[in-house]
Amino acid sequence: MIKRRKSRKIFIGDVPVGGGSPVTVQSMTKTHTEDVAATVRQARSLARAGCHIIRVAVPDLRAARAIAAIVPRIPIPLVADIHFSAELALEAIKSGCHAVRINPGNMRNWRDVRRVVAAAKKADIPIRIGVNSGSIRPRKGWEVSSKRGDMVTLMVDTVLKYCERFEKKYGFGDIKISLKTADAVETMACCRRIATRCDYPLHLGLTSAGPVEDSEVKSSIVIGGLLSEGLGDTIRVSSTGRPLDEVRIGHRILGALGLERRGLEVHSCPTCGRCEVDLEKIVRAVKKATAHIDRDITVAVMGCVVNGPVEAAQAEIGVACGRGWGWLFRRGKKIRRVPVDAIAESLVKYIESM
Ligand code: SF4
Repeated sequence: MIKRRKSRKIFIGDVPVGGGSPVTVQSMTKTHTEDVAATVRQARSLARAGCHIIRVAVPDLRAARAIAAIVPRIPIPLVADIHFSAELALEAIKSGCHAVRINPGNMRNWRDVRRVVAAAKKADIPIRIGVNSGSIRPRKGWEVSSKRGDMVTLMVDTVLKYCERFEKKYGFGDIKISLKTADAVETMACCRRIATRCDYPLHLGLTSAGPVEDSEVKSSIVIGGLLSEGLGDTIRVSSTGRPLDEVRIGHRILGALGLERRGLEVHSCPTCGRCEVDLEKIVRAVKKATAHIDRDITVAVMGCVVNGPVEAAQAEIGVACGRGWGWLFRRGKKIRRVPVDAIAESLVKYIESM
């Protein structure tokens, strides 16, 4: 059981983040935001896939203004991703975004940051202070206690200084923070350290995590690792590829950690010299046949009757294969024998009757 860090609760639209709320999955549209139809289409398909919060890039005023047309047409809250320009943030807020993500370090000056914070306060929306290793720049005169090269200290101290300024000078505490690098160990170190020094909700992710197959591994380590330690309130898997994969991987990480419903999980063995069937084919058939079952249940598909049932004793139901047939078993106990071709169908029947 994961004991989650106590963080303050903020709301992005009607979605709570932090304060013990369920961990949410975010993604970012990859369309040009000013292309309202394409952005709405992508945001809707992400929402259907289980995305809770969507972020859009706001590189210019056209994109900022498009938010007004996008927000009413999508079912999930929208975060405007802003760099450099207070004007873009102000326009995005005016257009009805539910939160803005800024890096105060790349805004022109503190006057501009103050204007954005004041507008967010007036609109009653939170700000994500998002700092990436690539964009971190300590401000002149700031006592950031970093040695050259100590990225973790530099990032953590800088974000905390931003937060302190927001709270003390601007009276604004509706904050969420993220610290991302492309390095798994560094990102984890940043998040672990900042988690002990504040109660702001944490947005977890990596920056430049690579194509889906690389991002899947890295994100599972970083996001999954931090979540398993109780850190993190909302997550974004980033990958060079379809945003739907980001959402799919995000939910799989949460499911694997028991932070949300797992649904039907197939646990299959890697096979070895004892296996006498085409287990990969059987697993594919079982996955296909059980795709409609919306229950939290573990189904084991094992390659042999020698070790199979014992290795998968914690599964509610499973099958251990021999040459040409399989033994259905429940929690490690054999029930009956079925031909290989009938395994998937028999499992479905059995699950439905349970
Ligand atoms: S269940 Fe049997 S076939 Fe599968 S890996 Fe274990 S010993 Fe090998």
